[in-house]
Amino acid sequence: MTGRPPVIGLTGGIGSGKSAAADRFADRGAAVVDSDLIAHQLTAAGGAAIEPIRQAFGNEVITAEGALDRGIMRALAFEQPEARKRLEAILHPMIRAESERQCQTANAPYVMLVVPLLIESGVFRERCQRIVVVDCPESVQVERVKARSGLSDAQVRAIMDAQISRHDRLAAADDIIDNSGDLDALFAQVDRLHECYLRLQSA
Ligand code: ADP
Repeated sequence: MTGRPPVIGLTGGIGSGKSAAADRFADRGAAVVDSDLIAHQLTAAGGAAIEPIRQAFGNEVITAEGALDRGIMRALAFEQPEARKRLEAILHPMIRAESERQCQTANAPYVMLVVPLLIESGVFRERCQRIVVVDCPESVQVERVKARSGLSDAQVRAIMDAQISRHDRLAAADDIIDNSGDLDALFAQVDRLHECYLRLQSA
């Protein structure tokens, strides 16, 4: 294979089924590049973002093991929006660079680039040849996230309110996966799209 494989952006609201869909694409042979996973690795012990974060915020936000203390950082970002901006200014360029590196070096017919805030982010959007949105009714999202995380109804709704609306997300989609049914229904749609994506040419 020469050059970089086509990149398809996969997004959806919290609990819509992005991970479930991405896992199925991976089973079929796609290379999955996951921006959340990259963020976790950058902020785990020994991660490349730890020293810049320590310099910006001090040792208080780093655990004894040397990882980002997510609880303390979350509280700080909640109290001081400016702290959140500083953290993002450190992390976002690193996430973009690492995801780009993984897209470039992927050894697969195409790449699924999983980004929860893909529609909101100009840079990620530019990189994608197509955008596939995983969609389900908001009430289903709430139930699935509550079952997964133990968060309350209000907490899940607050996270959803901070994301782009379902309407606007769907309007930006080239392809839509309807995940209002069971997992078999999800997998059947992923398998159909996989056949289409195999035929995509590199941009
Ligand atoms: P996201 O990555 O978009 O936040 P997940 O893929 O983690 O969403 O799905 C949220 C939760 O719902 C997970 O616990 C997942 O196993 C479950 N789930 C996803 N799709 C379905 C489905 N079609 N039927 C039942 N449970 C599902």
